Amino acid sequence: MNTAYLLIGGNLGNRSAYLQKAIELIQQICGNIVHSSAIYETAAWGVTDQPSFYNQALALETEFSPSALLHNLLAIEEQMGRKRTVKMGPRVIDLDILLFDDLVISGDLLTLPHPALPMRKFALLPLCEIAPDIIHPVLHKTICRLLDECTDTLDVQKKSIAAS
Ligand code: AMP
Repeated sequence: MNTAYLLIGGNLGNRSAYLQKAIELIQQICGNIVHSSAIYETAAWGVTDQPSFYNQALALETEFSPSALLHNLLAIEEQMGRKRTVKMGPRVIDLDILLFDDLVISGDLLTLPHPALPMRKFALLPLCEIAPDIIHPVLHKTICRLLDECTDTLDVQKKSIAAS
């Protein structure tokens, strides 16, 4: 059994309902969600004239390989109506693999750990809530330490208490 840490998020429509629907589909299709963080709200990163994002980190126990997990997450994004138009633009749902056990992969379709993780407070903050002591397999630092050292200035606000 593998443990993957996911970041799920979106900034269109009923953002909490989309997160909840994504959690249901991930649980049905990809494995067992053993921890989920609170929802955090962040101003949009990159393209800034769009609604703020809701993000949540999940710990998933899965039998899938990293590429099979990615394939299934992309299928869930599609099923939920995600349209890929503007890069970094608005979306109903975005499903990213932050970490997959301590695997390091640099491929055309999949990079692990997610390369943006150390730079993004909106990913580190929810991940730190559910996995503060996990070691980043490239930087050899805990998630908590990466959060302390992160210079991202975007405001990230906790919206709700953890579901499990
Ligand atoms: P986006 O939805 O804009 O974040 O980009 C999704 C694309 O990024 C996917 O089609 C993947 O091929 C690629 N990708 C590379 N590494 C990852 C990762 N760790 N998690 C999710 N998508 C990834």
